[in-house]
Amino acid sequence: MRRDQRDPYATTLRATVTGVERDRDAVWVTLSDSLVYPTSGGQPHDRATMTHPGGRAEVVDAVLPAGAEATPDGAPSPVRHRIDGPPPREGDPVDLALDVERRRRHMERHSAQHLLSQALLRQDPAFTTEAVSLASADATIDVAGGPDDAQLRAALDLARSYARANLEVTPFEVDDADLAAYPLRRTPKVRGTVRLVRMGDVELAACGGTHVARTAEVLPLLARPAQRVKGGLVRLTFRAGRDATDLAQATLDDAHALARTFSAAPADLPDRVAGLRAEAKAAADAADAARRDWAAAAAHAGTDRLGVRRDASASSEADAKAHLEALRTAAAATAPAGLLRLAVASPERVHLLLTRGPDAPEVDLRPAFEAAMAQLGGRGGGPPHRVQGAAPAATLDTALDTALTTALDTVDAVLNGDRDDAPG
Ligand SMILES: [Zn+2]
Repeated sequence: MRRDQRDPYATTLRATVTGVERDRDAVWVTLSDSLVYPTSGGQPHDRATMTHPGGRAEVVDAVLPAGAEATPDGAPSPVRHRIDGPPPREGDPVDLALDVERRRRHMERHSAQHLLSQALLRQDPAFTTEAVSLASADATIDVAGGPDDAQLRAALDLARSYARANLEVTPFEVDDADLAAYPLRRTPKVRGTVRLVRMGDVELAACGGTHVARTAEVLPLLARPAQRVKGGLVRLTFRAGRDATDLAQATLDDAHALARTFSAAPADLPDRVAGLRAEAKAAADAADAARRDWAAAAAHAGTDRLGVRRDASASSEADAKAHLEALRTAAAATAPAGLLRLAVASPERVHLLLTRGPDAPEVDLRPAFEAAMAQLGGRGGGPPHRVQGAAPAATLDTALDTALTTALDTVDAVLNGDRDDAPG
């Protein structure tokens, strides 16, 4: 068994360089012995520093050559270490120092995954583990058999009880000819010497990864709401050990910080947020009602010839558009036969709308609108009966009246053309 599997709590090691290979830009180093875990079986590789007579390099990747899964105790390490930094020479002594925090987190995630996979099977033999991801703090298990939320929660609680029992975790090796004597959770893929891991009397599986010594190290164990993923699988996303503690503490800090803004306790937050939502809804409803009242009054005041409404100063672009729409609805009801020329100014822009009342003549409003936009430096458009756009508010005072008056007089001239041009 490799040293990283045999003694997962070792953090430093002195070894001798047995080979240095260059592969394009990468430098790969092999050693007489190693404590660096190589990526395999779903568990990501370790990181470490490698100090040698030529300087200090970082181990940034580690791989296991095919067929090297079973390494006898004391045999040279098969692990290939990719390094970043000055390379050692063959025969150099090196001191390896593991990135302990990274490794411990991998051990906790991976060991928790064993307990969860086992607990899922205890809920229902159909709840098999089809894939795992242990590369980030939010680790995942993709489960077959379609467990529902209650079944997942029951499995989570069972895995927690296994963890709290603080079961001893024991790796050992057997010959594949003897495997039948072991009730394994799943059939191993490797042949020859097979490494098994036992967790008390609840879990027994073939596994080459690194594990905690006792199951309580995976606590706390937290899970997020599950998601359905492709292949009909259900993805259980969990955090274990340090990763779970980090999340729980950060969430608690956030909850208290948020509660302070309400002068409340974290437990009161759901009620406070519900109250805020109700207040926001009431405020929005009141704003809608006020806008309708304003629009009705504005439209009524301009029944004869709806002029440009500059008295409506909206607080934002969205508010201006909402005012304009309310004004249009009210004006169309008040002057169904009229041409409606409406404008609402926001701090940044003036929003313009030319449209016809439902009973108004079918005149094409686009030429007038385009003339107005050209003079105002604005943009917009629409179908012949309804054109809308916006122009910079800065041009409003100097140009708006002139532009709209000129443009709309053109429309009036078209509409009244027959009568004005008629002789006598
Ligand atoms: Zn394992």
